[in-house]
Amino acid sequence: MDDELDFAPEHRQFRDGIRQFLASHLPERLRAGARATPTVFAEPEIGREWQRILYEKGWLAYNWPREFGGTGWSPVERYIFEKECALANAPGLPVLGLKLLASVLCAYGTPAQQQKYLPKILSGEHYWCQGFSEPGAGSDLASLKTRALRDGDHFIVNGSKIWTTHAHFADHMFCLARTDSTAKSQRGISFLLIDMRQPGVTVRPIITLAGDHEVNEVFLKNVRVDVSDLVGNEGEGWTIAKFLLENERGGSCFAPKLLADIARLREEAAREPSGRGASLGLDPLFATQLALLELEAQALEITELRILEQLKLGQRPGPQSSIVKLVASDLRTQVDTLAMRAFGYYGLELETRRPLYGEESPEAVYSKGAQVAAARYLNSQAWTIFGGSDEVQLGIIAKTVLMI
Ligand SMILES: Cc1cc2nc3c(=O)[nH]c(=O)nc-3n(C[C@H](O)[C@H](O)[C@H](O)COP(=O)(O)OP(=O)(O)OC[C@H]3O[C@@H](n4cnc5c(N)ncnc54)[C@H](O)[C@@H]3O)c2cc1C
Repeated sequence: MDDELDFAPEHRQFRDGIRQFLASHLPERLRAGARATPTVFAEPEIGREWQRILYEKGWLAYNWPREFGGTGWSPVERYIFEKECALANAPGLPVLGLKLLASVLCAYGTPAQQQKYLPKILSGEHYWCQGFSEPGAGSDLASLKTRALRDGDHFIVNGSKIWTTHAHFADHMFCLARTDSTAKSQRGISFLLIDMRQPGVTVRPIITLAGDHEVNEVFLKNVRVDVSDLVGNEGEGWTIAKFLLENERGGSCFAPKLLADIARLREEAAREPSGRGASLGLDPLFATQLALLELEAQALEITELRILEQLKLGQRPGPQSSIVKLVASDLRTQVDTLAMRAFGYYGLELETRRPLYGEESPEAVYSKGAQVAAARYLNSQAWTIFGGSDEVQLGIIAKTVLMI
């Protein structure tokens, strides 16, 4: 995996520094836990520990501008960091606060909001969830019905949110709510920061078909939000949400993790028998399928690097982020499908206990690769839905890239 991209000497030196740090500071317990995690987000138990290690090193805010406590790394350096973390099996970081909200606060927040929230996102004192989707308002987000009515220095929020990832761990939610029901649908929406540690907030779990508790319903009843926790102007929520969603779809690099998982699948296949006397890795059909996926992931990597170049010039990811999201989701489901097939009938075994590490040592659980592969296969179906479904991305590409 080393030299597939020809990085400049200073970037190779940077990469070597990251590698050394990961070798000495990323404990095997966290690596094994991450390998045995079927969901997109790591369980806070391992994610927070990794967050603390990076925080102490000063690398947690690797994608923030320096003036807000970030590393000031260039887009290529950030990419190298993400790639090395993926190759080393580092647990996923809590991106909702660290990447999505932080980028909004840096761009739209008041100095007071930046001072109040950014340090607590970094230290892990606050854990954020994203309250956008509602029953009946997912793809058609602008039809959301949660209301926020002004009452003196507060908004009073009533409504419900759904599919809220990690709301059961979160103490704060960034939320879209309708502050003006007379304005046209997009115009009446505002972006609010909600403290979930107050009466009126109820979180109810949704257990997915894989057995994961990752998403929730959230009910908001007369929830109070100080006006100082309105981000941007009243009615500007839609513009801010679009900025955030572009970052969600295109601001992340998906290829590093895909390439790392393909490399791991190749290692596993070399150990698995094919049923014809040789290893699965030498099976021509399997090897071809894996090679095709690797080529696609490398092509995605080039696209992501091209977007990073644009970010470096101060441009936004724009509609290209929809292409990245679409291709990455397709590859994610294909890699996870092939991984499950690699285990044959053992892939039918579904362990719904979570986390898949814990009672036994993570290493022991990981050796039961089929359990993880089966859970991942089921979980990865959600990739074609969250952050905007495949069909919605195709619509955006048709309108804004192909101009149909
Ligand atoms: C695992 C997971 C985690 C999530 N986490 C969060 C979260 O943390 N916070 C949050 O706010 N939301 C979250 N979501 C919600 C997610 O953003 C929505 O599920 C998604 O936007 C789709 O909305 P919907 O579920 O209402 O489906 P719908 O919008 O009802 O879509 C149903 C079907 O119709 C298709 N469709 C809809 N509109 C169009 C169109 N215009 N053209 C063509 N086809 C269309 C869709 O592609 C889909 O196949 C999460 C979802 C999942 C699955």
